[in-house]
Amino acid sequence: MNDEARSTGKPRRAGSKSHPGTSAEPSDSQAPEQSRIHGLVVVATPIGNAGDISLRALSVLKSADAILCEDTRVSMKLLMRHGIRQPLIAYHEHNAERMRPKILGRLRRGESLALISDAGTPLVSDPGYKLVQAVIADGLPITALPGPSAALAALVLSGLPPDRFFFAGSLPVRGAQRRHELAELTAIPGTLIFYEAANRLPATLADMLSVLGPRPAAIARELTKLFEEVRRGDLASLAAHYSAGPPRGEVVVVVGPPLVGNAPEADALDRALTKALVSLTLRDAVDQVAATTGLARRAVYVRALALTGKTGEAGGGADKAG
Ligand code: SAM
Repeated sequence: MNDEARSTGKPRRAGSKSHPGTSAEPSDSQAPEQSRIHGLVVVATPIGNAGDISLRALSVLKSADAILCEDTRVSMKLLMRHGIRQPLIAYHEHNAERMRPKILGRLRRGESLALISDAGTPLVSDPGYKLVQAVIADGLPITALPGPSAALAALVLSGLPPDRFFFAGSLPVRGAQRRHELAELTAIPGTLIFYEAANRLPATLADMLSVLGPRPAAIARELTKLFEEVRRGDLASLAAHYSAGPPRGEVVVVVGPPLVGNAPEADALDRALTKALVSLTLRDAVDQVAATTGLARRAVYVRALALTGKTGEAGGGADKAG
């Protein structure tokens, strides 16, 4: 492969003697459906509905020398369903260091290796980044077959602005770290997308409300599956809803951009409270903000309750459980 093709990662058909630009080379708009591709091919697979796999993905998987996957048992189910019997090689965080040199060796010998994950797009909160880096560093051919990813499906269903968005991955499990990471995201002028485990959703939403304020948000659950559901509202109403208990299944949290103008968190009181609530209990945050702003403690307290979605709850010193 010439340097230009190599640097652009342009795929080449097996056995092809043609060079880029000759008539035998597929045009950009008409890449063949049936083709064996040299090098590493990053292939997106369904996030729930087995039908969400592209014709090209099936073709490439069927003709690969081997398929790298996270969990062979998980991938086997999908592949068997589509009659794909290529050899599977486990590639996951626990064996990646050991496997990478072997994989690079096979790619150097001209093999076609497909990389898939348990679900969705590899590298997106899934293994593959270091392998892709190594393949690029080695100048080996690489391409990607795009397809499902829960982040994009959730974004388009959320009803929140899609023009600018930030994929924040998964937040830390521990409350204090989670709030710290959320605080780093407060100024991003776009929609935020998070992957979250369903059992942590109530605590995460409570933290999001206290740190990000009552922004519009959506919870996208079980996308492409039988019980797909998107619950839209704002962080206060969603935190209140899920405080009754976590949902089942897989979820993506989508949070709208910072509100502007006369919106509540643009107000100095809200900003001061939001900041204080990152590290203090509600009671201490109210005390601190009342002292620094000179506002009546009662007024600050009422606003803090609204910000944290605790309006109407009994008691005045609710703590922020991690
Ligand atoms: N690589 C995948 C992708 O492209 O979407 C993501 C893998 S990550 C390990 C798994 C997380 O993705 C889940 O915890 C959940 O937050 C989200 N997710 C995956 N499938 C989903 C689905 N069908 N509905 C909602 N969220 C999903």
